[in-house]
Amino acid sequence: MPGGTPGTPSSKTKDKIMMRTKVVVALYPFRAIEGGDLSLEKGAEYEVLDDSQEHWWKVKDEHGSIGYIPSNYVKEKELLGLQKYEWYVGDMSRQRAESLLKQEDKEGCFVVRNSSTKGLYTLSLYTKVPHPHVKHYHIKQNTRGEFYLSEKHCCGSIPDLVNYHRHNSGGLASRLKTSPCDRPVPPTAGLSHDKWEIDPAELHLLEELGSGQFGVVRRGKWRGSIDVAVKMMKEGTMSEDDFIEEAKVMTKLQHQNLVQLYGVCSKDRPIYIVTEYMRHGSLLNYLRRHEATLGANVGLLLDMCIQVCKGMAYLERHNYIHRDLAARNCLVGSENVVKVADFGLARYVLDDQYTSSGGTKFPIKWAPPEVLNYTRFSSKSDVWAYGVLMWEVFTCGKMPYGRLKNTEVVERVQRGIILERPKACFKEVYEVMRKCWAHCPEVRPSFRVLKEQLISVSQGLLND
Ligand code: AMP
Repeated sequence: MPGGTPGTPSSKTKDKIMMRTKVVVALYPFRAIEGGDLSLEKGAEYEVLDDSQEHWWKVKDEHGSIGYIPSNYVKEKELLGLQKYEWYVGDMSRQRAESLLKQEDKEGCFVVRNSSTKGLYTLSLYTKVPHPHVKHYHIKQNTRGEFYLSEKHCCGSIPDLVNYHRHNSGGLASRLKTSPCDRPVPPTAGLSHDKWEIDPAELHLLEELGSGQFGVVRRGKWRGSIDVAVKMMKEGTMSEDDFIEEAKVMTKLQHQNLVQLYGVCSKDRPIYIVTEYMRHGSLLNYLRRHEATLGANVGLLLDMCIQVCKGMAYLERHNYIHRDLAARNCLVGSENVVKVADFGLARYVLDDQYTSSGGTKFPIKWAPPEVLNYTRFSSKSDVWAYGVLMWEVFTCGKMPYGRLKNTEVVERVQRGIILERPKACFKEVYEVMRKCWAHCPEVRPSFRVLKEQLISVSQGLLND
C-alpha cells in the first residue's frame, strides 16, 4: 500500500522522527553584517538546519529567518548546563579569576569556574573587607547529590545555591552581589561565512601597534564595528601566492589560545593580513613592562605558560608546525588571555637571513639541535622552543643566553648545555622545561603531555 499501513509512520515520517531537530542557544550576541549571515540575540533559541561545516552553521530563528552564524557563539540547548549564566566563566584559572575580579573592584563580585579537578566547581568572590582580596570556595556535594558551600545550606543545583547566597552570606565573606560585565566575546573563524578575502575599503585603519619582520601592524575596524589588527606585508618579504592559498586553511584554525586569522586583502599590494586584535600587544613586551607585579605572581606566570601550551596542543593535534614559537610571537588580550600568533608564517618568508640557520635573523636561541644541523622542523622542535618560551616567561622577558653570540649558543646547545633555572621558577616547573630540551626530539614530551604535566604541577604547587 502506498504510504504504508495506516497508523504506522511512513518511511518519510520515520526519517523525520529519526532526524531529531537540533536546537541551540546563543551564548553571545552576533551582528550579521555580510549578506547570508543571521544575527544572534544572546539567550535566544535557533533551529540548526545545516551543521556540516565546522565553524559556520545555517540556522533558523523564531521568526523563520534563515542564515549562517558562528558555531562557537551557540551551544546545544540540551548541553547548555551553566553556560547560560553570566557568572559562569568555564575554564578560567584561579589566577585569571583573581585578576578579573580585582580589576572590577566591586564588593561581592563573583564568578563560578571549573575547578582544576574535572567535574568540580569553585566560587571566586571579591571582598574589600578587611582589605581587597579574592576568596575561593569549592562547591561541594553531599551524599544526596545536593550542592553546598557551608553544610547548613544545601541546594538541588548550583544556580539555586548562587541564588541562596545572593540573599544570605551564609558563612561567605560577602553576599553574592554581581558578576563581571562586558566580558569579551570570542572571535569568529573568518569575519563571515566562507569569507577570507577582505575588501580593504571595509577596513578603517587606526593607530600603529608595532612593526616586525613583515612590516607595520595597525589597529583597524572592519565595517566600523569589529576590532582587528592589520599586518601590512612589506613587498618582497614573503612568497605571497603560496601564503594566500594557506590563509584559507589558517582561518579555519580556531582555539581560545590562538590569535584568530580573519582573512587577507590580497587583491592589492601590499597584502594585508587581518587578525584578531589583542589589546596588550606582544607577550615579551608585556612581561617586561609588568615585571614588578608579574614577577611576584608565579601562579600567573605558570598560567600564561599553560595557555600557550593549550594553543600549541591544538596546533599539534592538527599537525600544524609553528616554526617560530617565542614570547615575541605570542600576544596578550584582556583578562590576561595569552594567544599564540604567526603560526606557520615562517614558511613564506623570503629573507635568507631569517630562513637559513646561518642567517643573522634566524631564531637560533629557540632552535633545537636537529633544526640547527638539518633544518628539521616538527612539533617536537616547537616543543624545544616552548621550553625557551617558558624560560622567557619565568624571567619576565630576559634574553635567553644573555649576550652570547649565536655561534656560542649553537656550540652550547650541541654540547647539551641548557638554560639555567630562573629564580622565580619552581623546581617542578624547571623539570618540565628540561624535558623540552632533550637532545633527541623523540624523547621530548608532546604538547598534549606537557599540558597535563603543567596542570598537575600547578595543582600541586598552587591552590586551586
Ligand atoms: P609582528 O609583525 O607580528 O612581530 O608584530 C609587531 C608588533 O605589532 C607586535 O610586537 C605587537 O606589539 C603588535 N601586534 C601584532 N599583532 C597584533 C595584534 N593582533 N593585536 C595587537 N597588537 C599586535
